[in-house]
Amino acid sequence: MHQILILSGKGGTGKTTVASTFIALSKAKAYADCDVDAPNLHLVMGSFENKKESDYYGLPKAVIDYALCIACNQCFEVCRFDAVVPGPTYHINPVACEGCTFCQYVCPANAIHMEPAKAGELKLFTREDEIFSTATLIMGSGNTGKLVTEVKQQLKNNVQENEIAILDGSPGIGCPVIASLSGVDLALIVSEPSVSAFSDLKRIISSARHLQVPVAVVVNKYDMQERLAEQIAEYCFKEGIPFLGKIPYDEAVVKALNLGKNLAWINSPASDAIKQLYDKTLQVFKELIRS
Ligand code: SF4
Ligand code: SF4
Repeated sequence: MHQILILSGKGGTGKTTVASTFIALSKAKAYADCDVDAPNLHLVMGSFENKKESDYYGLPKAVIDYALCIACNQCFEVCRFDAVVPGPTYHINPVACEGCTFCQYVCPANAIHMEPAKAGELKLFTREDEIFSTATLIMGSGNTGKLVTEVKQQLKNNVQENEIAILDGSPGIGCPVIASLSGVDLALIVSEPSVSAFSDLKRIISSARHLQVPVAVVVNKYDMQERLAEQIAEYCFKEGIPFLGKIPYDEAVVKALNLGKNLAWINSPASDAIKQLYDKTLQVFKELIRS
């Protein structure tokens, strides 16, 4: 499976808008939403005929058997996540427990065991020959990166080996982004002209380089701060990173998204710019998979 990943660093830059437009323009048969904390790609992808759901289990949680506990306080002393609630009846706060098993290791009364804990749901949607993989993490659960890996693996297991997949990546710069980046052929970073977005862009580029993933950059809403948009383009030029273009701020985008419309099917300054970016992205991608 060849993969184009759309990333953003900072949230709210228009990553999913670009990803959903690319999916529609390419008539992609394989795509995924890796933003498992707050998936929203499905909102603009229309309805699907079939949906398969399966439970996702993260790290197990500690549980104390009150009948065996001798209230020695050792579990409370070692827990670095403040998940042990001390006596008179010791118990574990499952939201705070990270499943490290340290308390189980030190308990002199064998009163602690680990139990599997559901952390989310994996979802696989199908429509004719289209496959859409996504997931929802239960609020407060950890292991987002592991679930992102499951989303990608689920897609891979259900498509042809040489299929081109478009992935809507996780926002931010942490663990789920590393999981999103792993093994992709090209990461297109959608930035915006703000100091925080520029800073996050540099950090994602650094992570992508570490994972040897080629990147390209676009700037959305460039006309909100043209000088900063130019600085991002100059930075890319100096770093030898393809800067594929700029998307203007456009009220038509907001109206279309509020109606659940994909930008591929409307004509407006922003949608026209994204269509041109799609052609350029495809060109870079094809050169990469040929080399
Ligand atoms: S498993 Fe780790 S995080 Fe959970 S209660 Fe025990 S020591 Fe704390
Ligand atoms: S370490 Fe074991 S025996 Fe001691 S307080 Fe915790 S659960 Fe009870």
